[in-house]
Amino acid sequence: EGPLMDGMRTVGELFGAGKMFLPQVVKSARVMKKSVAVLTPYMEAEKEAARRAAASAPAGSDASRLQNASAGRILMATVKGDVHDIGKNIVGVVLACNNYEVTDIGVMVPCEKILAEAKRIGADAIGLSGLITPSLDEMVHVAQEMQRQGFTIPLLVGGATTSPAHTAVKIAPEYPHGVVHVRDASLVVNVASALLSPEQKPAYVADLAAKQQRQRDEFAARLKRTPLLPLATARSRAPQCDWSTVDIPRPDFLGTRVFHSDQSTIRDPQSAIELGAVAEFIDWAPFFSAWELTGRFPDILKDPTVGTEATKLYADAQKLLAHIVAEKRFQPRALIAFLPANAVGDSVEVYADEQRSRVVETFHFLRQQSEKPADQFNHSLADYIAPKSSGRIDYLGAFAVTAGPGVEAFAAEFKAAQDDYSAIMVQALGDRIAEALAEYFHKQVRDLSGYGRTENLTMEQMIREKYRGIRPAPGYPACPDHTQKPQLWKLFGIEAATAIGLTESCAMKPGSSVSGFYFNHPESKYFAV
Ligand code: SAH
Repeated sequence: EGPLMDGMRTVGELFGAGKMFLPQVVKSARVMKKSVAVLTPYMEAEKEAARRAAASAPAGSDASRLQNASAGRILMATVKGDVHDIGKNIVGVVLACNNYEVTDIGVMVPCEKILAEAKRIGADAIGLSGLITPSLDEMVHVAQEMQRQGFTIPLLVGGATTSPAHTAVKIAPEYPHGVVHVRDASLVVNVASALLSPEQKPAYVADLAAKQQRQRDEFAARLKRTPLLPLATARSRAPQCDWSTVDIPRPDFLGTRVFHSDQSTIRDPQSAIELGAVAEFIDWAPFFSAWELTGRFPDILKDPTVGTEATKLYADAQKLLAHIVAEKRFQPRALIAFLPANAVGDSVEVYADEQRSRVVETFHFLRQQSEKPADQFNHSLADYIAPKSSGRIDYLGAFAVTAGPGVEAFAAEFKAAQDDYSAIMVQALGDRIAEALAEYFHKQVRDLSGYGRTENLTMEQMIREKYRGIRPAPGYPACPDHTQKPQLWKLFGIEAATAIGLTESCAMKPGSSVSGFYFNHPESKYFAV
């Protein structure tokens, strides 16, 4: 409670003031945690001695001195169906640094369990995390249940697809005791301290309610201003394409190809993934944003504000990555697949063979329905596949890649050793390797289809996606429907080949995984439905 707590308080203050950065906070927390582990036996002994002394001494003596005054109890969980927890882990560390007692009950936690745990520990607030869009609905459900069960403690939400607007429009109306969207770890302490302080809470909640009402009004006005077109109208505004002239590359294989890192079990050496080669394809900018350091890579290393910390973080990452590669701590797997296909309306029929003898699956793509200027189109991914009526045969590609189960296992080892900094680093690197695998195999696929061989792109151009073709992911803006994933899994036997499973919300498990479709059309680009 002396020097260590004073140190953490200073770190917390400097972080709050923007004079220290997240990696420093997490490293400071590691010092605190490891120190506490050393001190705990002594503290226990002292407590025991104090308890014995108190039993024979008058009440009010300083026996209670060791009762650490906690700033509050916060229960944290990633909601049912979702597996991502880097952000939650970071927020947990930052809260713990600021003297909050954090109970983290992990990922894929059903609502009933979250609320039962909150009651059991007497939580002062609940924090929910989620990455994918179905988790947004799950958060609404948790809010409804909190209301039904008579909770009055505040609810904090965060994670990739959460937003102030969604929180205001969908979650907050279900629960009147304060639902706050927390954008990142640097803001959580201010939110928690305001909501947990009996003096500040009423004004904070009133303020929040007014702000969220404004956000609801703005959202309603926006909907009114830009009504959706009827589907038939949107379809009539599809981009036109002269299919007789489009270059449709024929992939050099049809069906699936599977790759993994364990060479001893592979007969075809071409199917081996070399982790070190994949690491070259890492896009580092998102690594820094996971640590809440923003800037372009590599410029960020020389940034006048965050450069010093970014450089240290990068050096730590490189060291750990080298270890991961040398010791094969991640076991990546990948599957790529192509089958003949044609578009039928906004859907894509996939055939067993080039004779198109049998439809083996039909994927349904959504079309943009927003009103647009006359010279713009309403896009659907189906537009990038030759329609059946064109008389030409086209191909739909797909992929699923994962950094493997080693990511969570390695992170857990660090956690057990009170090293959250390295645990979070491992998870961040797992996600980087997964995205790097997606980039690496997309390059292989372009080469296999011919047109990639003359690309001559630098790694930087590749990371900026300057190549022909896209790899949209189901659940993301061009194809926001996650339920295309179970179809994809079944069609190509993805789970058996890669050990990537799907949760009930269609999140991929392990979390450090990426999947998507390949479209090779020369004009293909990402858009948002
Ligand atoms: N290089 C970055 C990639 C970021 S996300 C990284 O390492 O993190 C990019 C991926 O998300 C794309 O490869 C694609 O699979 C998916 N994606 C991006 N925009 C999309 C959109 N509008 N619709 C569907 N998928 C999209």
